[in-house]
Amino acid sequence: MLKIGYHVSSSGGFVSMAKQALDAGGNTFAFFTRNPRGGAAKSIDEKDVAEFEKISRANGFHTLVAHSPYTLNPCSSDAHLREYARDTFADDLARMEYVPHNYYNFHPGCHTGQGVDVGIDEIADMLNSVLKEEQTTTVLLETMSGKGSEVGSHFEELRAIIDRVELSSHLGVCLDTCHVWDGGYDIVSDLDGVIALFDKIIGLDKLKAVHLNDSLNPCGAHKDRHARIGEGHIGFDALCRVINHHALRELPFILETPNDEAGYAREIAMLKEAYKN
Ligand code: FE
Ligand code: FE
Ligand code: ZN
Repeated sequence: MLKIGYHVSSSGGFVSMAKQALDAGGNTFAFFTRNPRGGAAKSIDEKDVAEFEKISRANGFHTLVAHSPYTLNPCSSDAHLREYARDTFADDLARMEYVPHNYYNFHPGCHTGQGVDVGIDEIADMLNSVLKEEQTTTVLLETMSGKGSEVGSHFEELRAIIDRVELSSHLGVCLDTCHVWDGGYDIVSDLDGVIALFDKIIGLDKLKAVHLNDSLNPCGAHKDRHARIGEGHIGFDALCRVINHHALRELPFILETPNDEAGYAREIAMLKEAYKN
């Protein structure tokens, strides 16, 4: 069965998020662990979590893909921003343990002029200071489009980060279809080649989730502007090949397309229809 969901609103807690996912026909979801622009996180309501666990079991939910706030930059040239990223990340990881065994995805960061090698070292430094042996959460590095000074638009950069992290068994990768396309990986005419390259450089065992988005721009544009499924340069057929690819088909797919709830329900129905069971 296709594991699919979209990025739901987290303001109402876990039960509300599960209901949004179910209403759209999903069996997983993504959510911000706090306001995407940063700030204090709401305290975890253990009753809400317990009720959510029931709903999740009853409906066969799959691994959730939480998203860290966009504002965290573990490789900023500003030491205060690096410190803020580390503290927030550590706090989020502690909160994720209230819903154990899920994924926490983050944008590796922007090196803001320090150069990609310094960026890689600083991202790894942060991970080395926040990851804990006993955690059940797997932290996912997201593949990026290469906009501005983003680190992580080449598979080699993600590999270099993973190599520098001691507890790398707690790390995985989330492949964003819009981002890799914008980053120059042609998943339309050579999906097999891109997957083989990912396997060679990072290893398919590290690939844990997919952000399924179309792109408003051509391959290699480094823009990162998401389009609705089938309304961008990647197109519906190529995205159907992504969800059905033997190396990807068991992963959770998360829509981050510009849609309202009805739009997500439509895309989920379309993709379920296209999934070969
Ligand atoms: Fe993201
Ligand atoms: Fe994404
Ligand atoms: Zn994006």
